[in-house]
Amino acid sequence: MQKPATPMLTAAYLAAVTEAAKANRARLDACTSHVFTPILPGSRLRQRYVCANCAGEVDSASYRFYAQGREHEARK
Ligand SMILES: [Zn+2]
Repeated sequence: MQKPATPMLTAAYLAAVTEAAKANRARLDACTSHVFTPILPGSRLRQRYVCANCAGEVDSASYRFYAQGREHEARK
């Protein structure tokens, strides 16, 4: 007897997650200047950020690299 798949790992769920990630990437790529704010202010555990211009979301590592890049560019 085959073990039933958990609801989180169905093909439909994985397809939906993939499409959501592609849509998020498209929003981020089309944005001319991100203005990120924390989604959960005060939370440092697995914080994510959302852009006020494009509604794209990034994780904390991507946010830090973007912020650092902006700082480096401002120093030129
Ligand atoms: Zn943006």
